Amino acid sequence: MSVKRLLLVEDEASIREMMRMALERAGYAIQEAEDAAQAERILADGLPDLVLLDWMLPGISGIELARRMRKDDYTRELPIIMLTARSEEDDRIRGLESGADDYITKPFSPRELIARIKAVLRRSSPDTEEGVLKVDELVLDSNSHRVTAQGERVEMGPTEFRLLQFFMSHPERVYTRSQLLDRVWSRGSFVEERTVDVHIRRLRKALAIGGYDTMVQTVRGAGYRFSAEG
Ligand code: CA
Repeated sequence: MSVKRLLLVEDEASIREMMRMALERAGYAIQEAEDAAQAERILADGLPDLVLLDWMLPGISGIELARRMRKDDYTRELPIIMLTARSEEDDRIRGLESGADDYITKPFSPRELIARIKAVLRRSSPDTEEGVLKVDELVLDSNSHRVTAQGERVEMGPTEFRLLQFFMSHPERVYTRSQLLDRVWSRGSFVEERTVDVHIRRLRKALAIGGYDTMVQTVRGAGYRFSAEG
């Protein structure tokens, strides 16, 4: 397996140093930037496998840089983990809505950081062959509109089906309720964010038969994530 390259964008030299040492010890190749401008120059030279992005940067903030990266076709798919000293709910949601795949709150341990990096990197490109999505023994077939768990048919409503389809093709990433409404419900359907919770509950109930309900995870203060990590 090739060495994964990480770009670390952090203005505090001591934190950068600590993270670089821990990450290199874990076998990653690290590039460092102390601000958004330097990060953009490094990105222009070639894409890393993942970006660790500090929220509070002098000049252009981490959130603004994440937004720019998501708008640009070149960097749109690049995984971003936001490093934040803020743990308030609004800030988490803002961070995720700016396009970050995950966030980690300072202070964090190297172990915690590496676990997050691995989870985001493992987010494999979805198997869309013939419209079939498969995670473990959970299989969603978009052609026949059928879901099976260990070969057994799982019954669910059309909204739960679309929700599961979205989750299975975007695993290991946290989505806020409003993001799920945008991506799963059709535009112009005036549904409240609470509706998302209702359908999440139904989806979990349907998946409980195969024991896959635990893959639909609540991320406190943020939203939901589909994860095979348990
Ligand atoms: Ca900072």
